[in-house]
Amino acid sequence: MPVHKSDALKKYFGYDSFRPQQAEIIDNVMADKDCLVLMPTGGGKSICFQIPAILRPGLTVVISPLIALMKDQVEALKGNGIPAAFLNSTLSATEADQIMWQAKLGELKLLYIAPERLFSGNTFDFLRSWNVGLFAIDESHCISSWGHDFRPEYRQLNALKKHFPNIPIIALTATADRVTRRDILKQLGIEHAETFVASFDRPNLNLTVSPGRKRIEQIRRFISKHENKAGIIYCLSRKGTETVATSLKNAGFKAEYYHAGMGAEQRSKVQEQFLKDDIQIIVATIAFGMGIDKSNVRWIIHYNLPSNVESFYQEIGRAGRDGSPADTVLFYSYMDIITRQDMINQTEQPEIQKEVLHAKLNRMKQYAEADICRRRILLSYFNEAVDQDCGNCDVCRNPRTRFDATIIAQKALSGIARTDQKVAMGMLIDILRGSRNRNILQHGYDRLPTFGVGADLRAEEWAEYIIQLLNSGVIDIAYDEAHAFKLNPVSRQVLKGERSVELVKFIPLSERKAKEELIPQEKPKQEIVRDALFERLRLLRKQMADAMAVPPY
Ligand code: ADP
Ligand code: MG
Repeated sequence: MPVHKSDALKKYFGYDSFRPQQAEIIDNVMADKDCLVLMPTGGGKSICFQIPAILRPGLTVVISPLIALMKDQVEALKGNGIPAAFLNSTLSATEADQIMWQAKLGELKLLYIAPERLFSGNTFDFLRSWNVGLFAIDESHCISSWGHDFRPEYRQLNALKKHFPNIPIIALTATADRVTRRDILKQLGIEHAETFVASFDRPNLNLTVSPGRKRIEQIRRFISKHENKAGIIYCLSRKGTETVATSLKNAGFKAEYYHAGMGAEQRSKVQEQFLKDDIQIIVATIAFGMGIDKSNVRWIIHYNLPSNVESFYQEIGRAGRDGSPADTVLFYSYMDIITRQDMINQTEQPEIQKEVLHAKLNRMKQYAEADICRRRILLSYFNEAVDQDCGNCDVCRNPRTRFDATIIAQKALSGIARTDQKVAMGMLIDILRGSRNRNILQHGYDRLPTFGVGADLRAEEWAEYIIQLLNSGVIDIAYDEAHAFKLNPVSRQVLKGERSVELVKFIPLSERKAKEELIPQEKPKQEIVRDALFERLRLLRKQMADAMAVPPY
């Protein structure tokens, strides 16, 4: 047995030096002190408890929710000559018994246990008869309902400190803001533990937010530029993953969906195929990815807006773990935020909890709508100071120009005023652009003086400017009145010409500088023809709809 941590690192893992913080964390654990480790995915958290496990007397019990990965992790340890085992629901009773005996006889250095297993049957009683030297709680954010993946069975881990007051606990996570961190420490009963925070900067990740129009089409082009490169597309719903995967498959890509509604067997099959590069693309809900160690994921697309920045960062963090460049794209439109808000409001949770969720969502929204370097925003979220812009995200690539948009604001505001503050985004844009559709005609909005005053701007331009007006407090919104827009004192000053408004100039998708040319500047000829046909079809449909809405007699 090596006696020094550097020897153990070399002997068992083959590495010459520790990454930042690893050595300090190991020293802390070796000194019998509790600690909380925050390190990004792929940062090297495992070694922080595996090396102490080797060097310390007794057994290190590792709590992990990731049953699917325990086997691989244990095999890897055994392959490196470290006696390790796991206990979870995939084992037969006989196999489990055998492992419990090995643990009792002191034949193991590491034992991975799923939390539900630890607290079922008599496992916990057995545990008390073993010579435990250390507890490692992996994915420890699961203990907090403020975290983004709360698992009730983690709550029972508060029993550890009560029954084993003298055995140190090392809690690890890649994702916890301040509130969650404090909660982890409280729940585990280790309030005085030192917290180690490694840098979350991942300079090899390129960050892009793309307007959420024609998502599938954007994705197809994007993937064609990343030929045979592994990637993950995150969707909000199970149904969504299936739809997107199917349409990619139909387009000839090797894609599969993955969500928690599938059988365990099917899920691990898909995961396995992805790890082995047999399939290129996984279209998944957030159920996919925690703890996945695939180093060559080259891109991540968020088809829908994540619920908070921690989840987002965690998910994009699964790309580029080998340190080579990787591209991440977040699709974002106004509807994404509305959907998320409605989801929060519909959950049955105490108001205070909902407020926290709304606040977190709001940070995500600020990221998506930002006009300053996106890496700056992300790192400041994790309380890291950055002294320069990354130069690589879509904001840095497309510096924003501001212009006097007072007239634009006045048009939008008068649209809101003339409809008695009852309209939401879609309808307001239709009024401004003078779209004579059924809804508009039913309400008689085509007779408003504002009807068609904004026909010079495209719908997506209006959408972007209205969002900017909302964000800068020129317009209010009533989420509890079907998201109708409302006027406030600032709106009234603008309407009366007592106040001017500056907005950031809209850049059409086709003119944005894309890192990997997410959107090519020039369209192939057949696409131009096709787009023209679609446009023609759209007009025809509209004419028909209009004709039907107003009976000729
Ligand atoms: P995390 O649990 O933080 O997501 P892991 O512990 O799985 O990350 O480590 C990610 C990868 O980094 C693994 O392949 C691991 O072997 C490697 N790694 C960890 N520490 C070092 C180190 N000091 N030097 C080189 N590679 C390391
Ligand atoms: Mg890990």
